[in-house]
Amino acid sequence: MTTAARDRLPIDLRSDTVTQPTAAMHEAMAAAPLGDDVLEGDPTVRELEAKTAALLGKDDTIFVPSGTMANLLALRAQTSHGDEMICDEQCHIVYYETGGYAAVAGLSVRYTHGEHGLFTADDFEPLVRLWDDPHFPKPKLLAVENTHNRGGGIPWPVDRLAHVCERAHARGLRVHMDGARLWNACAATGTSPAEYAVHADSVSVCFSKGLGCPVGSALVGDRATINRARHLRKMFGGAMRQSGMLAAAAIYALDHHRERVTNDHARAQKLCDLIEGAPGITVDRSRVQTNMVYFDVDPSLGTAGDFCERVKNDVLMLDEGPTTVRAVVHLHIDDAAIERAGAAIRRAAQAE
Ligand SMILES: *Cc1c(COP(=O)(O)O)cnc(C)c1O
Repeated sequence: MTTAARDRLPIDLRSDTVTQPTAAMHEAMAAAPLGDDVLEGDPTVRELEAKTAALLGKDDTIFVPSGTMANLLALRAQTSHGDEMICDEQCHIVYYETGGYAAVAGLSVRYTHGEHGLFTADDFEPLVRLWDDPHFPKPKLLAVENTHNRGGGIPWPVDRLAHVCERAHARGLRVHMDGARLWNACAATGTSPAEYAVHADSVSVCFSKGLGCPVGSALVGDRATINRARHLRKMFGGAMRQSGMLAAAAIYALDHHRERVTNDHARAQKLCDLIEGAPGITVDRSRVQTNMVYFDVDPSLGTAGDFCERVKNDVLMLDEGPTTVRAVVHLHIDDAAIERAGAAIRRAAQAE
């Protein structure tokens, strides 16, 4: 594509999932040694699983097609039908994963109401009904999300996470961390993946978001949990064959794209600088801590959906509520793209 043609395409800020493999990532994929990962095992998948387990300081890892499957395996492997999960009311597992926690894992749920997806031990403890009373389901699992997507891409302070997990464990709960954007949380806080992961029993991570891979997530945990997850992955139809091609992209991304997510965070701040103060646009900057920018549009500009529609020739974003728009910065967004997106949003706000 010529530069001129590319300049006419809208800047895609809908999600950090829209990235395409870079040339170097393609080369790594093409060069990967492959095998049948259901029969004898694929050597590149094995390498990725060992690398991810070491990075998070856990026994074992299983490579899966999606973050949704990683979360579902974590729930199914650590609970029984009829058990109860405690989680934030806006968490991805409940909000965006087609009710799999109920339909497939058979869990009931009680919600915490924290601030932007982050809660405290005092918030969730009253929800844990441990009394020996036949009325109540058995509370078995606490789910935390890091960074919290609908909260605004907010990373957990590790001390707070440690406290919450310690109190959950004291009550006999397992803890699952949905770390689809754990890499962003690490880059924003300086906490390492292992320093976060040590507090949870299982952690899911995505390679296809901020790291820029075409496909793939992983579930990390103790050996017994991951063994159960291997059996369940086959049951769910998620066991893949020459998946080393995909794992090679993830290995490349762990080595080359993890540090650079700080650029995405800086550009999210730049986007805020550009749109803050535009008439009818409100950005709560305290919530912009990683690569996501949620902003509100005044009803005089129409609904959030109307606003996204109005700017779509220049910038693509998602409406996440009647007045709320989400813009996500990723691997393909450079400084020029941020300037252009910011200018288009300002223009659309001023046109009313
Ligand atoms: C994207 C995402 C997932 C998983 O999404 P898939 O599209 O299934 O890979 C899980 N949790 C969070 C917080 C996410 O943002």
